Order: sequence, then C-alpha cells, then structure tokens
Amino acid sequence: MRITRQRIRLGGVVQGVGFRPFVHRLAVKHGLAGFVANSTAGVVTEVEGDRAAVDAFRVALVRDAPSLARVGETGVDEVAPRGDTRFEIRASMPAQGEYTLVSPDAATCPDCLRDLSEAGNRRRGYAFTNCTNCGPRYTIIRDVPYDRPGTTMAGFRMCAACQAEYDDPANRRFHAQPNACPQCGPSLSGDVAEARRRLAAGEVVAIKGLGGFQLACDARNADAVRRLRGGKRRSDKPFAVMVRDVAAARRLAAVSDKEAAVLEGWRRPIAILRSHEAWPEVAPANGTLGVMLPSTPLHYLLFENTPYDVLVMTSGNRSDEPLAIDNAEAARRLNGVADWQLTHNRDICMRADDSVVRCFQGSERLLRRARGYAPETLDLRRTVPEMLAVGGELKNAFCLTKGRHAILSQHIGDLENYETLVFFEETLAHLKRLFRVEPRLVAHDLHPGYLSTRYALAMEGVPKLGVQHHHAHVASCMAENGLDGEVIGVAFDGTGYGTDGAIWGGEFLVAGYREFTRRAHLRYVPLAGGDRAVRQPWRSAVAYGLEVPGVADERQHVVRQMIQKGLNTVPTSSCGRLFDAVAAIVGLRSEATYEGQAAIELEALADDSVDGRYEFTLSGEELDFGPTMESIARSREGRPAIAARFHNTLAAAIVETCRQVGRESGLRRVCLSGGTFQNVKLLAGTIPALRSAGFAVYLHAQVPPNDGGIALGQAAIAARRSELAAEPQTHR
Ligand code: ZN
Ligand code: ZN
Ligand code: FE
Repeated sequence: MRITRQRIRLGGVVQGVGFRPFVHRLAVKHGLAGFVANSTAGVVTEVEGDRAAVDAFRVALVRDAPSLARVGETGVDEVAPRGDTRFEIRASMPAQGEYTLVSPDAATCPDCLRDLSEAGNRRRGYAFTNCTNCGPRYTIIRDVPYDRPGTTMAGFRMCAACQAEYDDPANRRFHAQPNACPQCGPSLSGDVAEARRRLAAGEVVAIKGLGGFQLACDARNADAVRRLRGGKRRSDKPFAVMVRDVAAARRLAAVSDKEAAVLEGWRRPIAILRSHEAWPEVAPANGTLGVMLPSTPLHYLLFENTPYDVLVMTSGNRSDEPLAIDNAEAARRLNGVADWQLTHNRDICMRADDSVVRCFQGSERLLRRARGYAPETLDLRRTVPEMLAVGGELKNAFCLTKGRHAILSQHIGDLENYETLVFFEETLAHLKRLFRVEPRLVAHDLHPGYLSTRYALAMEGVPKLGVQHHHAHVASCMAENGLDGEVIGVAFDGTGYGTDGAIWGGEFLVAGYREFTRRAHLRYVPLAGGDRAVRQPWRSAVAYGLEVPGVADERQHVVRQMIQKGLNTVPTSSCGRLFDAVAAIVGLRSEATYEGQAAIELEALADDSVDGRYEFTLSGEELDFGPTMESIARSREGRPAIAARFHNTLAAAIVETCRQVGRESGLRRVCLSGGTFQNVKLLAGTIPALRSAGFAVYLHAQVPPNDGGIALGQAAIAARRSELAAEPQTHR
C-alpha cells in the first residue's frame, strides 16, 4: 500500500450546504485520515491514505456532493504525509481578500417538512425549521465566511439540544447556521391559526417570508382579490398563487413532468402554467397562471387543515416599490393594504422577490431571477477584470464580475423611483462586500435618462462604457450559451435607445461581443406622446396610420396632428408597439396598465389551430408590417384567429429576415433575445422554421430574455472591449 496525502481546495457553493459533514463521511468511508475546513475561498480538505482510495475519494467529492452544493474550481496539491490517524472537521481558516460563493435560499426539505408535521417532534409546527439542506441563506447573510455571527441569526443563542445537533457531524443540522427550535430561535408575532382563520374569512394578510413580505388572500374569493388589487394599486397585472403540492397545482393547470420538477425543486419559483379555468380577478384576460408551492415552513403551516386550497401570494408592496422587509417599514407601507400582519423577529438582510420561470422545450426559462437563484453565478468561461454592469431601467438587475464569475443580482425592479434606486445601491454594496469586488470599469445603457445610466456616469474614478441596449440583449444570449465569434441577433422588445436616437425594439443585428452592425429592423413608425404611448396602445395603431375603433375621434386627431408637426414624437422600430397596434386595432385593448399587457393578452387569445398568415414586406433593411396592419384592420375574422395569424406572420418575418442576413453574412447561428421572446407562441412558431432554414437557434434559460438579462450582456461586451484596450499597440 502506498500512502499519499493530498490537499484539495474546492470553490463554488460549498459553505452552508452540509459540505463538511459530507466530506467527513466520505473520508471515513474510504478509510482516509486528515481534515476538512471552511476557508474564505470555499472548502479545503487534506486526506491521507492509500493512493487508490484518495483517487476514489476525489471523484466522489464532486460526483456525490450535497444537493445544494455546486462545486466550482478545484485545486489539488500533493503534500507530505503526516501520519494522521483520524479525520476531523476543523474551524474556518480565514485568508485575505478571498471570497466564497453564497448559496441561494432553499425551500424546506422533505426531512424538515417531516419534523414540522410529525406529532411529538420538538419542531412540530415551528415556522423556522431548517437544516443544512434547506432554509434561508442569501437573504440572511451579512458577510462571509458564512458563520452564524455573520447572519441575521447572530442574536439567537442556540439551546443545548440545538447546539448538540450543530456540533454533531453525523447530524443533518451540523453547522446549519440558521439552526433553531421553539426554545431558542425566532418566533412569530402572531398566531398561524389566526392567519388561517382570517384568510378563510376573506381578509388580506401580510406575511413575512424569506426575502420580504408577501400579501396573501383566498384566490377563490373574488372580493378579497379585488380589495388586494385596490390596496396594491395594481389593476390588471396577474397575481401568482400558492397551492400546497403538485397534485393541487394539477387541479388548476396543465403540469408537465418538467414543470412538476421545477415546482417541487428546492429553488421553488413561480411557474407560469397553462390554466384549466379562467381567473378573471387573479389573472385577467390571461390563459396562464403563475403557480408556486410553499417555500418556507410558515407557508406549509398556512395550508394545514384549511377550507381554502389556493392563495394569492404576491409581493408585499404597492406597485412600483420594492417589497418591504423590515417590520416597522411593513407596518407603515402595508397599512391599508393588509388587514392583518404575521411577522417575526428574524431580520431579512437582503430582499429577494419570488422568481418566475416558464418551461419551454423541456427547459426552465427564467423570466424573473431572484429568490432561489441569486446570487448563484454564471460562468463567463474566461477570467475578466472586476467590473460593474448596471443594467437597464425596467426589471433592472445589475451584474458584477469576479474572475470567471458573472454575479447577476436578484431582480431589483423598475428603476423609476427613489426607493428602488436605494434597493439597487444596497444590493450593490452587499454583493461587492460578499464577493470582494472593486469594479475597475462600469458599463451602462446608452439611454441618458435611465437612473442606472445616471448612477454609472456619476461614479468617480472609474472608466465608463456605454452599450447599446439590443447589442446587450444579444451578447447576454451569447454569453449564456457560451458563444464566441459573430451571430445573427434578433432582439425584439418594447423599448431600447438606438445609436441614432430613435427608439429601437425590432432589431436584426450581426453581433460579436465587441461590435455589432444593424442589418435590418422593423420600419420606423412615428410614436407620439412619450411615456404615455406605452400606456396607450391605441397611439401605436395611429402610428401605423390606422383609425382605431373605440377611441374618440378628437383624441386620435390630436395625436395625428402631433405626428404631423413632429411634436413629442419619436420614430420607433419597437416590436412591443407593433403588438400594441394589433391589440388596439382589433378592439382588444386601447389602454394598458402594465408593461407587455397587449402582447400577453394577444398570446393568450391566439387560436393554435389557425395556421395562415398576413403579408409583410422586407426591402433592404426595412421590415414593414404595414400590409399586416391593413389586413387586420379589414379582417372580419374573430380575435383568436387574427391573434394567431399575427403571431404566424411575425414568425415568418423573423425567418425571412434571418435568411436575408444569413445570405449576406454567411452566419448560421441565431440568438433570440428581448422581452418579446417571453412569448411562447412566438417561440414555438419561430424556432422550428429557423431550424428548417438551416439555422442553429439559441435562447435564454438561466438569464431572463427581458431587460433583467441585459446587465450580463453589458458585462460580456465590456470584458472584450477592455481586452481590446489592453492589447499592445502595434507600430508600423
Ligand atoms: Zn431541511
Ligand atoms: Zn433550540
Ligand atoms: Fe429590452
């Protein structure tokens, strides 16, 4: 037998996820001596024993890692054997300037769920039950290394029974930093039974969750839902619902195997499902329903022996504000929205909204990336300088870079008010501290009016780099898919500032990270009224030169005059506005109360059995849907058929334009990005047709296609441009 000793360093998400006890068990199983310890860079272990056993140990270390762990970089060094005879778990080993990856919050695991519901268990009914496989992480961590004093659990001293679990390497609560029980841990301010009673009686209850307050009411009580809408000042935007398990979800909506796995997975996002019935109050004019399962013990307790089976569960805020996390703040801000509050005394360090995913082609695709996903990093596949990309305005998320990691923040929200900007700044300061990032470059959108742009430009002593909005969308899709070189980028969305000062949003680019050229776009139409045009889809129909049914002639006349005189009018190639124009012209929607409403309702309406389409023209760089709009205005078909034909037309136009750009450029890879591609009906029509035309098609999955993803693109672009700047000059 040949004795060898190796020091193995592991980066990635390896702290607070039961990694050290796992290493301990593994070493014992392989008959190895040595130690394991947390370091600020992750975990370090030294094992000593038979060479073959050490090799087998190393393989199993990555292959059999605990469910919440994500092993990143590993380093192995041969060191001199020391003659150790046992394997031990050691205290943390701090090192200067290093960092470790923090795990996202994880939903209650099956073992903890059993503790919660088992008669006689000391955690029966305890709302803060957790272990190394589940519970709060990112939302309670103040600093790394991840130890109890660095979390919002610092003030709770473990009782003897909890301490014994915490100290026992064989226990699943070994070094579970938020470990707690009714004797020693956080407690609720009110009674769960009372919350259940009030919900059953149709009241709106505010509940302190993992990443912030949530507002709940009985989803089948139309009056309660209406009052919640009134209080939140949210008139039509769909609410998500919570049900106790997948079986209950199947009673509401079609649930594929993939969707069931997403619903039950530890990340526990809201999944957008095709609903069996209409929910006029919860999700008006919508064929889908956002459904999630309980993610905390408290959620499970809310569903114990209750008359209701579906709860609306929405963020605890008034529309446009970040969600409340502080008890006093919630009492003040949710006063008048909630009838009653169920809070507790564990502080939330970081806000995190519920994440939203939609499954398409067997993959989960994020529409909002927050709880359960942030601050998991994305691999940039190369080492880049430390940078900050501030993102856009709507659905803002920013991105920091460190080594090969892109650290995409959780969903911040629409950066349109002071409160959201403060949330942006707090989260930025927090992630810079956790990951030890000091940006040497800041990338921003070209729109001079975005708060994110202004924030970037006001930073002192850091070079700035402006990135065109749709270039960022395409680069984000490239970066997520690990693409290099050039691609055809189709970036369709509502609004993005163009290099010519126009509002872009229906763009065909030939793009690499460093540069792009605009090869085709939707024909410009004159959009009058600035921000109001987004809230009034009928203005888009006027921009296409049409008479809009159901809108007073005088109002239309005023807008035509504005367009003629060029007053408060900008040219736009926006695809979002094209959807608006269609919705207005068929009399579906002349006013919108939330972003993307017209497109969402048209998608919901479309009759999948209709496969015809309308005419469009492509001449040179200009893709014109004028003929489409005229056909729709003349059509006598019902809205479901028109909506279907319109989607088919758009898909055909995308393919036709890609063919043209492909012929000119020789490129065969197409990246689809931008908020319009959240539309599954459009994706389903476009992708197979692109493939049969010989293109390889790339979509988003872990990064939202909407503006929540552009920070990643800005960072990827900034990384390559900074390399360019750093290359030695050649003299001739
Ligand atoms: Zn657990
Ligand atoms: Zn205890
Ligand atoms: Fe966009």
